Amino acid sequence: MKRNLLLTPGPTQLPARICQVLGEPIIHHRTPQFQGVLKEVTEGLQYVFQTKNDVLILTSSGTGGMEAAVSNFLSPHDQVIVLEGGKFGERWTELCQMYGIKAHVIKVPWGKAGAVSDIKKILGAQKEIKALFVTLVETSTGVTTDVRAIGEALSGTNVILVVDAISGLGAVELRTDEWNVDVVVAGSQKGLMLPPGLAFVSVSPKAWALAEKSTCPKYYFHLKAAKKAAQKTDTPFTPAIGIIMALNESLLLIKNEGIEKLWARYARLAQGTRAAARAMGLSLYADPACASHAVTAIQVPSGIDGEKLTKIMRDTYGVTIAGGQEELKGKIVRICQMGCVDEFDILTGIACLEKVLHEMGHQFTLGSGLAAAQKIYNQK
Ligand SMILES: *Cc1c(COP(=O)(O)O)cnc(C)c1O
Repeated sequence: MKRNLLLTPGPTQLPARICQVLGEPIIHHRTPQFQGVLKEVTEGLQYVFQTKNDVLILTSSGTGGMEAAVSNFLSPHDQVIVLEGGKFGERWTELCQMYGIKAHVIKVPWGKAGAVSDIKKILGAQKEIKALFVTLVETSTGVTTDVRAIGEALSGTNVILVVDAISGLGAVELRTDEWNVDVVVAGSQKGLMLPPGLAFVSVSPKAWALAEKSTCPKYYFHLKAAKKAAQKTDTPFTPAIGIIMALNESLLLIKNEGIEKLWARYARLAQGTRAAARAMGLSLYADPACASHAVTAIQVPSGIDGEKLTKIMRDTYGVTIAGGQEELKGKIVRICQMGCVDEFDILTGIACLEKVLHEMGHQFTLGSGLAAAQKIYNQK
């Protein structure tokens, strides 16, 4: 079979060990065997989240966790702030609107980072704000938000900080407790190297206090029910048993490497991708001050159709990278450094990008991107 290299922002590639576990016969979830795994994965998740808070496991894609983070802590007519710098920031706004919550939206230009001063301005004028929603890695633009600075700005207030870390967790630095983050949402199919199907939500005591007053409707994504079950090492409904078994392996891989080493590894991979793009005469989309290590957004040269570029890479050569979304459709491509990706995967992606750009008429020296990335990867 032809190669199928995924350099996409979810799903990401599965390590061989994870594929093995996924191929094993299923076990029943109301058993001491599964309870043992549930206990281990919860501790493992706390390590990856860098938190002592509860981390709850939901059976859904990441967006289910986002919905839970809106419906469980708020009530209709509550006021919140959304830092919106791309497609996933917009999802927070849409979810809030769906539950009748008033969102003060800070529109951040795509490719740029939001300013803490804008948040402080709204907090100064609106005393009733209950929550602030941000996106750790805005996957649509390749920007990492400075969650640490935002957490600092909120400390000592009654506002809870809710972070969509679906594409950031396990790829870029996130210190939930140290940075004063109340709710973190993640998913299984990105940095955690698993198939889609699980969402994770960590909840601080401050957020649990707010949950007591929440009147938004919820049934499947009821975090208090999930917590009650978790206290008995159980889940309220049938969980995605197979993915939880595989999660135990992926958390072990992360723990064995060490979270800080892992953050550094992806930073280095991203540095190589960026150097390659520049050497090929391509511009990077995100402001260098906030360019993410998890997703590198590269502008497609004018006159070349980015949609066609990614299609040829995938269908002819078996290398999948992501195109642009919405207004960036056809204008950018995104190469992802998260999950089970090493420097040779990135070099393969760059080689393929070079080949197809060359075929499509972009003028540059073939091999220049590869040489630039190799130079970074070969630094001691
Ligand atoms: C992928 C992604 C999501 C959506 O997750 P689903 O699993 O598709 O529901 C949300 N936010 C960000 C930042 C993402 O990258």
